[in-house]
Amino acid sequence: MKVVLLEHTQNPEKVCAVAALTSMKEGTPSDMLSEIDTDNAKKRIQRVVGYGHYSVIEHASFTFSIEGISRACSHQLVRHRIASFTQQSQRYVKMEDVPFVTPPSIKNNKTAEDIFNKSLNNNTESYKKLLELGIAPEDARFVLPNAIKTNLVMTMNARELLHFFNLRCCNRAQWEIRDMAWEMLYQVLEVSPALFETSGPKCIGEGICTEGKASCGCYKLFEGKNIDERRIIVKEFFK
Ligand SMILES: Cc1cc2nc3c(=O)[nH]c(=O)nc-3n(C[C@H](O)[C@H](O)[C@H](O)COP(=O)(O)OP(=O)(O)OC[C@H]3O[C@@H](n4cnc5c(N)ncnc54)[C@H](O)[C@@H]3O)c2cc1C
Repeated sequence: MKVVLLEHTQNPEKVCAVAALTSMKEGTPSDMLSEIDTDNAKKRIQRVVGYGHYSVIEHASFTFSIEGISRACSHQLVRHRIASFTQQSQRYVKMEDVPFVTPPSIKNNKTAEDIFNKSLNNNTESYKKLLELGIAPEDARFVLPNAIKTNLVMTMNARELLHFFNLRCCNRAQWEIRDMAWEMLYQVLEVSPALFETSGPKCIGEGICTEGKASCGCYKLFEGKNIDERRIIVKEFFK
């Protein structure tokens, strides 16, 4: 898979900080934007987010190109409702080549991989034969499996991204969407460290896990670790 941060709000931290200031100070947002510096913006964001006033960080948005994920993954992704999606259409795009994602558990097991490839080849052949018979792609696609690759453009604001990372960077999330979420997280951290300072699975910021019996238990290794180290502990936990 490839994840590319295509665009984002210019000066996301300053814009969100100005939104926070607007609610509390006299003066206009445009003047505030020209006056605020990076350090002040960071402090302002930390303060309001610390109070739980997350609406101010909805003013920063981030647009990603998500390339080559499976339809199994994209189906989970589009469950996130506070986001905008545009996905490659299986109605308009007639697939000449039918690329697919192989899960690592299958790739690492020769017998499983043979079964998997055989099944996908059968489906691919059927898809192509249906197209040759003049069946429209929108109907021929019914034989395509979850493994088929897809591309999307997705936009989320910073508040939704924090929520998304809470759920999808967690070791409880499925491996493909989890890999994608971590990739997104590291890219937005580069652009906006203040907005995403404590982002990641919930346990990273809170130091505890709310998954009950299903918890992976990695948070037990967090004591004395900073956020970056905690992120590594979560990511490496099952390796
Ligand atoms: C580990 C894991 C396992 C999962 N297993 C399943 C499963 O077995 N079956 C299944 O169907 N789904 C499953 N899901 C998907 C899950 O139920 C959610 O649909 C998905 O994670 C989107 O989360 P969300 O609804 O919180 O977030 P978003 O849709 O991104 O919304 C963000 C937040 O906005 C608010 N919000 C959005 N829409 C509404 C609304 N209509 N009313 C009130 N508040 C709203 C909520 O506070 C919500 O948390 C799973 C997800 C995870 C991470």
